[in-house]
Amino acid sequence: MGAGDRRALSAVQAAAAGAPSDILHLDMDAFFASVEVLDDPTLAGKPVVVGGTGGRGVVASASYAARRFGVFSAMPMAEARRRCPGLIAVPGRFGRYSEVSAALMGLLREVTPLVEPVSLDEAYLDVSGAHGLWGTSEQIAVALRGRVHAALALSCAVGVGRTKLIAKLASKAAKPPADEGGTLAGAGVLIVRAGEEEAFLLGQPIRAIPGVGPRSAERLARYGIATVADARQLERAGFVRLFGSSHGNALCDLIAGIDPRRVEPEREVRSIGHEETFASDDADLASLQRKARRMADAVAARCRRAAVVGRTVTVKVRFSDFSTINRSRTLAHPAATGAEIGAVAAALLEALELGRGVRLLGVHVSGLVSRDEGAEQLELFPAASSEPDGSLDAGTRERRLELEAAADAVRRRFGEGALWPPRGDDGGPARP
Ligand SMILES: [Mg+2]
Repeated sequence: MGAGDRRALSAVQAAAAGAPSDILHLDMDAFFASVEVLDDPTLAGKPVVVGGTGGRGVVASASYAARRFGVFSAMPMAEARRRCPGLIAVPGRFGRYSEVSAALMGLLREVTPLVEPVSLDEAYLDVSGAHGLWGTSEQIAVALRGRVHAALALSCAVGVGRTKLIAKLASKAAKPPADEGGTLAGAGVLIVRAGEEEAFLLGQPIRAIPGVGPRSAERLARYGIATVADARQLERAGFVRLFGSSHGNALCDLIAGIDPRRVEPEREVRSIGHEETFASDDADLASLQRKARRMADAVAARCRRAAVVGRTVTVKVRFSDFSTINRSRTLAHPAATGAEIGAVAAALLEALELGRGVRLLGVHVSGLVSRDEGAEQLELFPAASSEPDGSLDAGTRERRLELEAAADAVRRRFGEGALWPPRGDDGGPARP
């Protein structure tokens, strides 16, 4: 870090010194595995993992009993079984985890509306407006942990700091540590106050900094950088050279403890959909399915633009007598491609009695999460290939995504109709 950065850093630190520690990061302990144990008490205390049980499966979540054998999330299932011969591997039940997650987020929103869910089992809270009702940040953190345990019978860790970065690192530090020696009780709550921040940050391994994945950590290790303290020796230009301008500068800021990110309550967009009213009623299943697949492609393109994916596909059908029905299916993992959304929509239509004739058809995707989180879910809940619900295996899905992204580019250039059969073939909308 250069002299200019050091001056900027001390100015930021001075300005923030009086700022209160009002950001909480709450993270459930071994979430998926703990929910499995909750629902099946015979699993208590046993080495349980949730994840893909097939040949290429990956551990999504490991109980603390499994962690004692050196089993961790993101580890290939085969390796996990090698390390822990008695391992109990169960497939994920995403619907159940979502249900528990919704209850969890509800509890957090009782404290403040400023809750930003990061994933099913993790959220940031800004409690700056909650002190009057709930006490100090520390009291809120301790109380929240108790309420989560009382209401859900699950444990969590809470970190408190002035920034998201510090709060997140603090919740990690409050977790129960597990190794071959056993599992120690974690602190459960860790407050990092302004005066303790610098020492806390400097001691962190570089891998703990958000945005430093295994590959980045490896590159930094080649320069002898293992901790935040080591990384402080690197000039800003060095970060930019290693990681490019945007990522390099962001990383350099985090290493310096500069993190202006605010707690952003949940996005308001709940679904993305496309509906069309037809010039004449349509009672033909094959024709309606073609239309649904075309709409599904448009919906998938909008999801890609918004960088979201969703797990629930809904078709809306309004009949000639104006009666309207919705039919939904929730998938094991987020649908990312038009092909997947279209296959589900077509299957939903197949189950309907269409004799009255359809005047309006809609295809919607809901249960939206960011694409990054969706990718994580997909990795954790890999689908078998060619499932009847339209799921694709990972390789096929990746190729499909590439193809559909290419189609997005063609449409942007030549207009919405460029990739569709001419009007008349499927009764699609007239081009503007
Ligand atoms: Mg967690």
